[in-house]
Amino acid sequence: SNKTSAQIRQEFFDFFAEKDHAIVDSAPVVPKNDPTLLFTNAGMNQFKAIFLGEEEALKHEGKNWKRAADTQKCIRVSGKHNDLEEVGHDTYHHTLFEMLGNWSFGDYFKKEAIGWAWELLVDKWGLDPDRLYATVFEGDEADGLPVDDEAIELWKSETSIAHDHILKCSKKDNFWEMGETGPCGPCSEVHIDLRSDEDRKKKPGRDLVNMDDPRVMEIWNLVFIQFNRKPDTSLEKLPAQHVDTGMGFERVCAVLQEKTSNYDTDVFTPLLDEIADMAGLTYGKDEEKDIAMRVIADHIRAVTFSIADGASPGNDGRGYVIRRILRRAIRYGWDVLDFKEPFFYKLVDVLAEQFKDVFPEIKAQKEYIVNVIRSEEKSFLKTLGQGIELFNEMVEGKKKLSGEDAFKLHDTYGFPIDLTELMAREREVEVDVEEFNKHMKAQKDRARAAGKFSVDQSDTKSWNVIKESDEFEFVGYDDAEAEVEIL
Ligand code: ATP
Ligand code: MG
Ligand code: MG
Ligand code: MG
Repeated sequence: SNKTSAQIRQEFFDFFAEKDHAIVDSAPVVPKNDPTLLFTNAGMNQFKAIFLGEEEALKHEGKNWKRAADTQKCIRVSGKHNDLEEVGHDTYHHTLFEMLGNWSFGDYFKKEAIGWAWELLVDKWGLDPDRLYATVFEGDEADGLPVDDEAIELWKSETSIAHDHILKCSKKDNFWEMGETGPCGPCSEVHIDLRSDEDRKKKPGRDLVNMDDPRVMEIWNLVFIQFNRKPDTSLEKLPAQHVDTGMGFERVCAVLQEKTSNYDTDVFTPLLDEIADMAGLTYGKDEEKDIAMRVIADHIRAVTFSIADGASPGNDGRGYVIRRILRRAIRYGWDVLDFKEPFFYKLVDVLAEQFKDVFPEIKAQKEYIVNVIRSEEKSFLKTLGQGIELFNEMVEGKKKLSGEDAFKLHDTYGFPIDLTELMAREREVEVDVEEFNKHMKAQKDRARAAGKFSVDQSDTKSWNVIKESDEFEFVGYDDAEAEVEIL
């Protein structure tokens, strides 16, 4: 169809408004009162208290609601959900994306959630049922969890899905838990197989769980919150049952606009047009340049939205995550697209215009966001070129970059370790991260001994050459909930 992304978003809201859902705003992507969470990474984050039973219902426009729908800005670059390395290389994982969701707070349950998901996708949006698959939880004996037979039966009774398109899957993908304790439950994911008829014959979509094909992707996750995980890890049935769903907006736009890549939808084309224009190139001609353009288009969204929601690039925690994303984009620009002057900030304009109705916070703070990004760019550009030259010398003819060299790039040239790792990977060189971490720790100990702890955030140059007083330690991607440990 030729629906715009704005229309698709609106149709989602209209569909659930007709079914008595309050249409609420996205929570900020930078959580305001939750220091345990670096970034909002799912639609449910803002309703945590209701699921936990700490709040009874959702208050919205002077009324109590048991149903809600929204689009939630999400960022997944840290902790359990870290999609950063995928971004730009695949065409459907983003650092920042919109998650469309509908919610039941102790109201409707599996029957309606499944029936309505199908009604929207197939009856309203006209997706081909032949290409859709639904996964259901296969149970887990060790955990005393049964197969979700209820969901299986409901997929059969409430939808016209082919029965052999209902697939039982494991806990990893089909049992959702908020954390160590608390509300949890099985889920059903909807996947779509967009491969050619010929490819689908060769390998049926039933194998989708083991399929590594970008044209087979998950579009919607329906979570049925029915248990409470207690501190002794046992499960009890909740008095109230809730529904929590999340649909990838950019993915569904690609499906409805009949594109094979999210970047070919009108969510991304305004950005890509601008980037290609600045580079004097055409998108879609050269894979290496395309990856760089996609990374830049992706990263400007994460950086812009998080600054608009009150975060700013810095040396620790959230701020350092944003700085890392920024520097990653700037490096791609410099190395691959030959951007030797600040360019990234110019893209804020595109976003301000594109999202002026749904996320007006960008347009409202445009000047500020532009200034923050431009000054970050200027500072990093002072050392980036030299750093790249030095890096090239360091890895020349080698298979491994020493931790000492990685530390030098970090300390003197402001290269976050993951940027160094990325550049090394491009040249099939390994990085001694362990030794790097030792250098980081030694530096921190020296700083501690010298009693130097202050980071002067007001001095925009202070992070350019990263100094002894820095308070962060990079602990790798998957080791911990938060990858940047604040000491
Ligand atoms: P995937 O398996 O594709 O990584 P997921 O299972 O991690 O997705 P959920 O946590 O179930 O994702 O989130 C709900 C929906 O949000 C997914 O069905 C998908 O459509 C979308 N989504 C998840 N991660 C991303 C991302 N990084 N970029 C864009 N959309 C995403
Ligand atoms: Mg994922
Ligand atoms: Mg998944
Ligand atoms: Mg999922």
